[in-house]
Amino acid sequence: MDDCIFCKIAAGEIPAKVVYETDDVIAFEDLNPQAPVHVLVVPKKHHEHILDDVSAEELASVVEAIGEVARAKGLADRGFRVIANTGADAGQTVAHLHFHVLGGTPLGEGLIP
Ligand code: AMP
Ligand code: ZN
Repeated sequence: MDDCIFCKIAAGEIPAKVVYETDDVIAFEDLNPQAPVHVLVVPKKHHEHILDDVSAEELASVVEAIGEVARAKGLADRGFRVIANTGADAGQTVAHLHFHVLGGTPLGEGLIP
């Protein structure tokens, strides 16, 4: 989609620190990390958010990518958090479906700061 920053990263048109990539999904370092590990897992096909028509295959690719990122970043044994901000109340700022993978430090028990 035109003017979508994550579509442009998926297409290799703007740079990102890529951690993992397949035909369907790309994972890259968040520009403004909120934890020692903060990676975004992004289906390459444009969807605004999780309420769009996201296929089971795409979601399977996302879950696989989250596992690969967690292992590559040393999070598999210690744990991590996955967040998909969806719409205004969640503070979604990039309107292309993405999953934050956060870890590398104790993240606290509460989900809402
Ligand atoms: P959200 O608020 O859930 O929509 O998250 C969007 C995330 O994208 C934020 O954590 C931003 O820091 C991150 N972000 C925005 N632009 C870029 C970029 N060009 N490369 C990497 N991360 C980005
Ligand atoms: Zn997009």
